[in-house]
Amino acid sequence: MTNTPNSPATVVISYGRQILIETAEGDLLRALARGRKLQVVCGDRVNWQTQKDGTHVIESIEPRHGLLMRHDVRLGKRLLAANVDRLLVVLAAEPAPDLSLLDCYLVAAESLGIEAALVFNKVDLLDGQTRTRIEANLKPYTELNYPLYWTSASSKAGIAPINAALGGHCGVLVGQSGVGKSSLINALVPDHAPRTQTLSVAAGTGRHTTTATRLYHLPDHSGQVIDSPGVRDFRIWAMPAQEFMHGFREFREYLGLCKFNNCLHISEPECPIRDAVADGRIDQRRYDSYCRLLEQVTQAPSH
Ligand code: GDP
Ligand code: ZN
Repeated sequence: MTNTPNSPATVVISYGRQILIETAEGDLLRALARGRKLQVVCGDRVNWQTQKDGTHVIESIEPRHGLLMRHDVRLGKRLLAANVDRLLVVLAAEPAPDLSLLDCYLVAAESLGIEAALVFNKVDLLDGQTRTRIEANLKPYTELNYPLYWTSASSKAGIAPINAALGGHCGVLVGQSGVGKSSLINALVPDHAPRTQTLSVAAGTGRHTTTATRLYHLPDHSGQVIDSPGVRDFRIWAMPAQEFMHGFREFREYLGLCKFNNCLHISEPECPIRDAVADGRIDQRRYDSYCRLLEQVTQAPSH
């Protein structure tokens, strides 16, 4: 045991209290969190020590940003991943895009203060006409400055731009089941499989590694992705109406200008947001999505 404090390590795998850290030197070590209250999650930067018996103990967690959470009806608030900088929302022609779900993810990203981008996968299946139609449907998003990437996990087309877009940061892939998130992770992380084996050995049991949350390094230090079934199924949580409406970028310039300061922009008079929808400055479909989701999100039980 040494008295010199170790440099913070990064949590690269977490499954409940089973944790694997990567030290500043690049070593992978199994570690335990000190005390039950310390909820360590994949992506965390942690301060750690090696005890006399050789076990590695996480003493504290460095301040976090981009903390993804899930609200479990039974278990309450569950942490999914920490220090996430980018939310990549994956879409495809098949299954047909659920734009309402996309809007939910974008609100979540705005609320977390992290950047979001759209990834349209399976381009190998698109003919020119379909692509033109999709481009038109997604125009409101590109006009709001959400980047849009076209990829094919099958042909590896468009994978390099995603690496570049992460720009050394940490991303997660979310979206409907079947759009190709797992396939994209495989394409983004070429050494995915060998590393998986290393991790299951290092994590001990190997049993839980398919459900554990893991951080993968992308080639050439271009960034990291965090992935797990839980992260992929990440859904918006209950939040106050004010926070929710702020998640619609195009509303922001009008917020605070309504006649009523608690205006929900649904049916209230003298509402500049409704005016903007009426004369086409705000996209009608995005607004309809807002109205539908507002009720769901603000009425969901908050834990
Ligand atoms: P996930 O549920 O979002 O993780 O989706 P998967 O990665 O499991 O992919 C769902 C299905 O789509 C699988 O059968 C994949 O082989 C297929 N798929 C994924 N990416 C592509 C792609 O770029 N092109 C084509 N043609 N199929 C793809
Ligand atoms: Zn209003």
